[in-house]
Amino acid sequence: MSNQINRRKFVAHTAATAAGVLIGNRLKGMSRSAEAATRPPDKYDIMKETMKYRKIDAHAHIYFTDDSPGTQLDFGERLGIEKQVISRYLSIFPGTPEQFRKYNDLTIKAIKKYPDHLLGGFVLNPEYRKESLEEIKRCMDAGMIGPGELYYQEKINNPLYFPIIEKLIDLKMIIFSHAECQLGVGGYRMKKYNGYKAPNTSIPEDFVDIAKRYPEGVFQYAHIGGGGDWEYECKLFRDHPNIYVDTSGSNNAENMIDFAVGHLGEDRLFFASDNCYYQSVGKILASNLTEVQKRKVFFENYNNLLRKGGRNVD
Ligand SMILES: [Zn+2]
Repeated sequence: MSNQINRRKFVAHTAATAAGVLIGNRLKGMSRSAEAATRPPDKYDIMKETMKYRKIDAHAHIYFTDDSPGTQLDFGERLGIEKQVISRYLSIFPGTPEQFRKYNDLTIKAIKKYPDHLLGGFVLNPEYRKESLEEIKRCMDAGMIGPGELYYQEKINNPLYFPIIEKLIDLKMIIFSHAECQLGVGGYRMKKYNGYKAPNTSIPEDFVDIAKRYPEGVFQYAHIGGGGDWEYECKLFRDHPNIYVDTSGSNNAENMIDFAVGHLGEDRLFFASDNCYYQSVGKILASNLTEVQKRKVFFENYNNLLRKGGRNVD
């Protein structure tokens, strides 16, 4: 009992502290642990901690608005994000070649204007095989590093994607797609009920399917912080080493990052924001990861995969 204090004593001493009645260096009769509980927290300079880590944001977007990419660059500068992998996801249907070229032109313009801060990801629609393959070449020639966030047009494991994925594997690019997993037993609710989702939304099982089909492919599952069932996602991906997850999204459930590292290992997470910048940096800082692990997640894991295709940052 020496390190403990009964509740009555604790309350009494807390009241004494609140009243400012301190006796010497320690509260009279209070144990060390109880004293620690009443002490103000140690100083924590969060911006110093933030700027300590090199960062690549593996998932960000730009828009057809006057403030873009200025707003994104501003966040990046304040948070010490060296590079943001930007794309303009194909939120338009059906997503014709004319449409995806226009979306990619926006990204090309931005990366040419801000080459020190932005890396470009292209979008396409596998329903247009020939045009999509041509678009990969056009965007690569313009300096893009791989696909941006592929979207609702088709599920990532649809056979229409096979020739696209084979091309991306040849080019040693990271295959990156939007995905969702509504709460419930991993996608079950999405299949059973109308979750107001596009019918071709990729779900975790689709990623497992395509990752098994192409074990040499490197797949980036978008935003485990996007509001889905991240525990289910991480459990499902555990035995599929070519699926990586990005940590982006506006959801910051406690333990998300620790849980993901626990199931996937420290090499399979990419720091990313999906434009939720503060939250996304904060959730890594607030995790229980070691310094080495944080460095991996913030920067090295993604950069190491870029290196395979000669597109690494340094
Ligand atoms: Zn998304």
